[in-house]
Amino acid sequence: MGDHQGSDALVIGAGVSGLTTAVVLAEAGFDVRVMTSLSPHRTVSAKAGASWGPFMSGHSEIERWSAASRTTFVRLAGEDGSGVHLNGGIEAYENMAQIPGWARAVPGFRLCRPEEIPRGYTGAWRYTIPLIDMPTYLDYLASRLTACGGSLEEISPLTSLATPLRAASIVVNCTGLGARELVGDEKVVPCRGQLAIVDNPGITEFFQDNVDDDEITCIFPHGDTVVLGGISQSEVDDEEYDLVQERRFLDRCAMIDPRLASARVRERRVGLRPQRETIRVERDRREPRLIHNYGHGGSGVTLSWGCAMDVLTLAQQSRG
Ligand SMILES: Cc1cc2nc3c(=O)[nH]c(=O)nc-3n(C[C@H](O)[C@H](O)[C@H](O)COP(=O)(O)OP(=O)(O)OC[C@H]3O[C@@H](n4cnc5c(N)ncnc54)[C@H](O)[C@@H]3O)c2cc1C
Repeated sequence: MGDHQGSDALVIGAGVSGLTTAVVLAEAGFDVRVMTSLSPHRTVSAKAGASWGPFMSGHSEIERWSAASRTTFVRLAGEDGSGVHLNGGIEAYENMAQIPGWARAVPGFRLCRPEEIPRGYTGAWRYTIPLIDMPTYLDYLASRLTACGGSLEEISPLTSLATPLRAASIVVNCTGLGARELVGDEKVVPCRGQLAIVDNPGITEFFQDNVDDDEITCIFPHGDTVVLGGISQSEVDDEEYDLVQERRFLDRCAMIDPRLASARVRERRVGLRPQRETIRVERDRREPRLIHNYGHGGSGVTLSWGCAMDVLTLAQQSRG
């Protein structure tokens, strides 16, 4: 237990941001309740691929947050049932002026030799990163929360934070895209994504790309399944799965690894990333007991531990 035994915190949202924040606060000694309109498996977080690597998100602290999260994920990769494992593979790009510092900082990073660069790309690097099986990982976070006394409750969608603020000393807003309505933040917009889960024909390496296009390509092996994608459509809020888009990304994936050409689709996922020009991790300007943690775009998993640790610092300052 930390110094905050008896201090209570109410976290709104049970996606990866809410659950990670709740675990960090609870393990520091806060008495934590999570309230959510959707159970963890129905959140956007459950739809993610998910690989570690900041993608489609903005903030000056991204490198620090993603590094802190990577350190934690590397540790979790050694824990049975966490849903996290470390995987080697290739990240390819079309146009990139400079290889990002966060990638170069990963141990084992190296640029690919010309013969290793997949057709259609101008460059690529190789490294080993955490891959996260989100449904399993969200269960892991929820049970880690209850193990240290926290609770999770499903409620009707809140229309205001006034009631939570009356009910707890500290409220953390982890509502993702829901913040658009809940706190009237029009800067957070949907960015549509979809993925297909297929039988694994023997793939052990991941692949993902960085392109100036909506049509991204990713291959994330998770044991006997592989997550294939994808699409990234800014300001599109359609939650219908698009089979035409699926055909296109399955073909792109099969170009990268022909073993995927006849892979059987087991499951289909579509979700709306909570995109915001700048991620919002800060104390509310008018209500010092309210802390925001949302707007992580395509990097909510990647940044989750780093952001949650900053929320803890803000919560500790609020309690004095
Ligand atoms: C297809 C796809 C692939 C992705 N791949 C990756 C990846 O590889 N790596 C990565 O890092 N990220 C990835 N992402 C992005 C990542 O999924 C998101 O950034 C992350 O899930 C955001 O998490 P969150 O907890 O902030 O929001 P959410 O998961 O959306 O959770 C929001 C929570 O708030 C609750 N809520 C909202 N409004 C209210 C309200 N009014 N009252 C009560 N509760 C409310 C909801 O019920 C929910 O529990 C991907 C996303 C998609 C769609």
